[in-house]
Amino acid sequence: MLRGFSGSDAPQASIYDTCIRCGLCLQSCPTYLETSVETSGPRGRISLIRAVAEGHLDLLSPGFVAQMSECLDCRGCEAVCPSGVRYGRLIEPARAQIRRAQAEREPAFSRFARAFLLRFLFTRLGAMRAVARLLRLAQITGLEKLAPLLGMRDLSELAPRIPARPFVARGQRYDVERAQGLAFLHTGCVMLVAFPAVHEATIRMLRRAGLGVIVPSDQGCCGAIAVHAGESELGREMACRNIEAFERSGADVYVVNAAGCGSALKECAELFAFEDPWRARAQRFAQRVRDILEVLDAVELPAPQIRVDATLTYQEPCHLANAQRVTAAPRRLLAKLPGARLVEMRESAICCGSAGIYNLTQREMAARLQRRKVDALLETGASIVATANPGCAMQLEAGLRVARSSVQVRHVVELLDRAYPFERLAE
Ligand code: SF4
Ligand code: SF4
Repeated sequence: MLRGFSGSDAPQASIYDTCIRCGLCLQSCPTYLETSVETSGPRGRISLIRAVAEGHLDLLSPGFVAQMSECLDCRGCEAVCPSGVRYGRLIEPARAQIRRAQAEREPAFSRFARAFLLRFLFTRLGAMRAVARLLRLAQITGLEKLAPLLGMRDLSELAPRIPARPFVARGQRYDVERAQGLAFLHTGCVMLVAFPAVHEATIRMLRRAGLGVIVPSDQGCCGAIAVHAGESELGREMACRNIEAFERSGADVYVVNAAGCGSALKECAELFAFEDPWRARAQRFAQRVRDILEVLDAVELPAPQIRVDATLTYQEPCHLANAQRVTAAPRRLLAKLPGARLVEMRESAICCGSAGIYNLTQREMAARLQRRKVDALLETGASIVATANPGCAMQLEAGLRVARSSVQVRHVVELLDRAYPFERLAE
């Protein structure tokens, strides 16, 4: 007998039935652009999901599992669909169903590796910092060159350069005179060990925007990695932790500087069933979540004083452009930089292949998309590429290293911060 979807979290017919098969999404789908294969595009994948739901295809058939895994969940299709198909609400439940069905057969080592990665590393940020310290040690001693011998070539190629000091959320408070409100800074997981300078720039820019900033220590990872990996129960636990931390904090707005985290947190109510009391709390919380670039674009910032004098291009993180539909704010903010020339990149919103841990699990397709992105970036002649998500930044940096390019990768907020006199933040 064919195994299909089951339970209340199965992909809903009311979503896939809205697909009118027009194909307008195909040219926005990175995997379709690379393969020109119908089942590697949104329309084909929706048909596959429907076939499983209707009992014509087995949930664990290799073709179905391969297509659900090859999809980046970048939602480029969703952003252009004239019929409003909520593709993200199909792919994530489909993956969760596959994950549940596979769990029974999973070898012990792979179960352990997954549990270590998701349940240990991403829920205990002290462990994340310890792993980052080891990685930094390997990077500064040159031991990382031995990674290929240990079968860890991909990890060492994609890992960001780890700075000496992480940004630790320990309840810091940064007040400002005549504050217009109080912002809660989401510090995340990878961001705090790999991009502490982005958090510092975010705090300075929020203060310039007239907001006090707090960095509560009881927050945690947003849970996007768990949800993308089909671990929705863990995703719910992680969302609850951040909702409670925000409710306790008394802040007015929950500010996120990583597009993937912002998208997950804005949509966290979807993780809870209609009858679950957490759903209403998650909806109230989600209404207060903002990307830092939305916040800065909505206020009158003081005029920047320092020239940036560079040609810039902007790489749109999928989860900012497609999931949160924030596309104009980053460009408006970059255009304010004195001396900067903004050159549009071809296919700016096509995914770079990072997509959570996609660049580790789907190495070949991720590498093709990385090359495609780096080619588009180099065509612009820019010396700096601006982005707004740690995964994109790491994927771009790795691709530029391979291309032996000196183009710098920077978060938009770091570039904005550079245009003002430097202020050291109190510990
Ligand atoms: S654009 Fe929307 S309606 Fe058209 S094929 Fe794609 S998902 Fe279906
Ligand atoms: S989410 Fe991205 S990769 Fe997946 S079908 Fe849509 S456009 Fe293609």
